[in-house]
Amino acid sequence: MRLRPEIIALPAYRQGKAAAASAFKLSSNENPFGPLPGVIAAVGAETTYNRYPDASASELRERLAARYGLSPDEVHVGSGSVALLSQLILAAAGPGDEVVYSWRSFEAYPSLVTVAGATSVQVPNRPDHGHDLTAMAAAITDRTRVLIVCSPNNPTGTIVHAAEFEAFMAVVPSTLLVILDEAYAEFVTDPDAVRGISLLGRYPNLVVLRTFSKAYGLAGLRVGYGLGPVAILDAARATAIPLSVTGVASAAAIASLDVDDELMERVRTIGTRRDTIWRALTEQGWNTPAPQGNFIWLPTGAETGVAAEALGAAGLVVRPFPEGIRISIGEEESVEELLRTCAELVQNLP
Ligand code: PMP
Repeated sequence: MRLRPEIIALPAYRQGKAAAASAFKLSSNENPFGPLPGVIAAVGAETTYNRYPDASASELRERLAARYGLSPDEVHVGSGSVALLSQLILAAAGPGDEVVYSWRSFEAYPSLVTVAGATSVQVPNRPDHGHDLTAMAAAITDRTRVLIVCSPNNPTGTIVHAAEFEAFMAVVPSTLLVILDEAYAEFVTDPDAVRGISLLGRYPNLVVLRTFSKAYGLAGLRVGYGLGPVAILDAARATAIPLSVTGVASAAAIASLDVDDELMERVRTIGTRRDTIWRALTEQGWNTPAPQGNFIWLPTGAETGVAAEALGAAGLVVRPFPEGIRISIGEEESVEELLRTCAELVQNLP
């Protein structure tokens, strides 16, 4: 069997698993809160399983368009924002083309670029774990087709400042697609952070990606959306696997928009918990970047394996990377054990 060698070599998508029912799963940046009653009711009311869903998810797109003051064609919905990332990369980059993004960032980027047949250009994060937008702009060649900016960045939790982003957009040629991945936007509290929504209509080459997986707690139903120029979104739509947003998923997303205030209250609770954990870790001596998503980054370096094992033994399932550990902000009950284990770990760091 002849399969593409670069595809066979791709790593499987990693997903932390809780070994014991008592463990806290803090490895996938999920929302610890379950769906609100209105969302459960909307899912239950959706029963036309013998029919295909509306291929363009028009009701949900109309709701989102009204919310952001856009036309429905300036909204594209996919089965998670990861599907939209894939579609946008496929629409703009192919063999011989380059996709520039900061690294370390969202693990799916390199795989999606490889699947498109294009080449990843990974620009190292700054020592403070944030994106180096100057270096990213300097990495543009005549083969560059796409640049991805992730704010807040998964896994380091850092944001890109609005002024920095606008300076970046001013030097990136408008023929190159810029994807601003804002999967964690709702958790951002830093007033200087870039807000993709406020930039819509200003750039012909900017698409902003958001998701219902994180703040809205619908990771299991798979709904994400992209906002931007119609021509780019039409090209993305052309690459999409048809009918992948189910009626149940659309109904849950619409019902979530109906209870937005309650959901944003939960987001604030998670944000406050995050800031409390960050302050405590900083006091313990951790050099953790100020977190702006629903997770924190422990720069454990060479001690990562040992530290992840200790956290696992304490019943906390976390996500280790070569440079450090990402820990999602989970249930309130997980906080005490997290801080206790981190206090022990920080003593053993070089
Ligand atoms: N972008 C970033 C930065 C992410 O961290 C994730 C999920 N881990 C996604 C996109 C994709 O999320 P979803 O497909 O659930 O919308």
